[in-house]
Amino acid sequence: MINTLYFLLLFAQAKDIHFPKQENINTIQIAILDSSNHFNWNRFDTLQIPNDKSSQFSIYINRIIGKPKPLHAFWDFYLDSTHLKFKVLSDSLLGIFPKKPYRMKFVSEYRSLERQEHLLKMGRSKLPISLHNFGFALDVGIYRGRKYLKRGNIYSKMGVKAKEIGLFWGGDFVGFPDPGHIQYFSNSAQFIQQFPWIGFEFLKYQPMFESNYESAVEMGKMNFFQDTNDLIQILKTTFPELKYLSKYAISLPENSDLRNWIQREKKDNTLSIIYHPIEQWVYIQKGLQGYTWKVSN
Ligand SMILES: [Zn+2]
Repeated sequence: MINTLYFLLLFAQAKDIHFPKQENINTIQIAILDSSNHFNWNRFDTLQIPNDKSSQFSIYINRIIGKPKPLHAFWDFYLDSTHLKFKVLSDSLLGIFPKKPYRMKFVSEYRSLERQEHLLKMGRSKLPISLHNFGFALDVGIYRGRKYLKRGNIYSKMGVKAKEIGLFWGGDFVGFPDPGHIQYFSNSAQFIQQFPWIGFEFLKYQPMFESNYESAVEMGKMNFFQDTNDLIQILKTTFPELKYLSKYAISLPENSDLRNWIQREKKDNTLSIIYHPIEQWVYIQKGLQGYTWKVSN
């Protein structure tokens, strides 16, 4: 049973991009319909939220309905020992960088998802989620005296130093070089490979990654999007359950029990997932919006 619930939670997360942004989900209810169309409900809310840091199911439930806090705060327990390694490396980069006449500093430790979304809208980032959101990337500002240097060879020198100590430099990014950027992992796929549970955060953007990669292929620019393809592949390997999902939504099933339930139930702040293994569909409702997908096995 827990396996099915876990699968449905992944499903809801993977399809989240289709829903209008809605804050403060405070209840998740998951139903599995049996052969006589009886709803077998499992409910989780902020009061009876499971809190077991060794279970992915519990962590993901917490992530969806837990009290609002910065994204990284949900994951620090998982990532902190590696944060420390990044801190040691970035501090030593500051140490080995030539002092005069330059001055170098790091801007922004953790970036919020809201800020990331803003940068994406402004065209200043290509990604809806990045290593910045997890504290594994830093933007570097280099000054000559008091003057901030926007670009220049000095950033390449910084990049060389960063790579010498094992960091990755944004100037090497294919397609979208970013010389004032360093990070701990070579890309998000490598991050997820090392910390598979974090893949959950990327799932809701998977349709976006896939359509970005598809258009890159159409334009013959897929080598600029190698990182995106790596990310798609690592999500597929990390969450093999998702291969049972169809890519496209289907119209509302004829099932009258489902339709009656939708009529009755118009709850805000609730994420409802209803699964019919026999008719092979999943219906997801978040607030007033509902969608159905075909599932196969
Ligand atoms: Zn950056």
